[in-house]
Amino acid sequence: MTFRATILTLYPEMFPGHLATSLAGKAAVRGEWSVEPVQIRDFAEDKHRTVDDTPAGGGAGMVLKPDILAKAIDSVAADNRPRLLMSPRGKPLTQARVRELAAGDGVVIVCGRFEGVDQRVIDGRELEEISIGDYILSGGEPAALILLDAVVRILPGVMGNVLSGTHESFETGMLEHPHYTRPQVFEGQEIPAVLTSGNHAAIEKWRQQQALKLTKERRPDLLD
Ligand code: SAH
Repeated sequence: MTFRATILTLYPEMFPGHLATSLAGKAAVRGEWSVEPVQIRDFAEDKHRTVDDTPAGGGAGMVLKPDILAKAIDSVAADNRPRLLMSPRGKPLTQARVRELAAGDGVVIVCGRFEGVDQRVIDGRELEEISIGDYILSGGEPAALILLDAVVRILPGVMGNVLSGTHESFETGMLEHPHYTRPQVFEGQEIPAVLTSGNHAAIEKWRQQQALKLTKERRPDLLD
């Protein structure tokens, strides 16, 4: 099964971006996932191909026009893929939502620009607003690439044995334990002895303790 991402954007050249490289790029070549950008501007009708207009009520910036954006959305065949809008006002993206999305057939993602998107198209097309964090980007494209990165890496077969998955930060409801590798001594610091003891039960216990300690220190909210 191929995971299909359709991206509505004014900057289709930003896709697949970094997802053309590394394991995600190889998985795309194998046909395990695909990304198809759709140029919103292609749905503009006037000779200047206008996609934005001034905000009703006044104020700075421009707003993506609902009529043009709705036509672009409606050009994507209706199927069971969720329709997302990258938005700083959205629900924060979590690993749990990433897992749900990765279990489906794909996504349709609208990338906002300017001050954002006319509310009537968000309501009328029932777009699910998703945020990647409490800061403002200049457009939804990098946010869409981040969401896709998180989804694609957990698609079956994409990472193969490279990814254990089960211990990773957020998968367990905690941050992950620290990692070490050779050399045995680096700048006078040794790898914690337990990790080279060969005692798998002790190693597992140490990792769990470390994960809990880190999570308490840095992200107590995850433990609530
Ligand atoms: N005026 C808006 C911000 C617009 S930023 C506000 O204050 O809420 C322009 C576009 O960038 C948005 O429409 C959205 O698609 C994208 N964007 C910006 N920050 C984002 C974030 N944290 N998460 C997801 N998308 C974001």
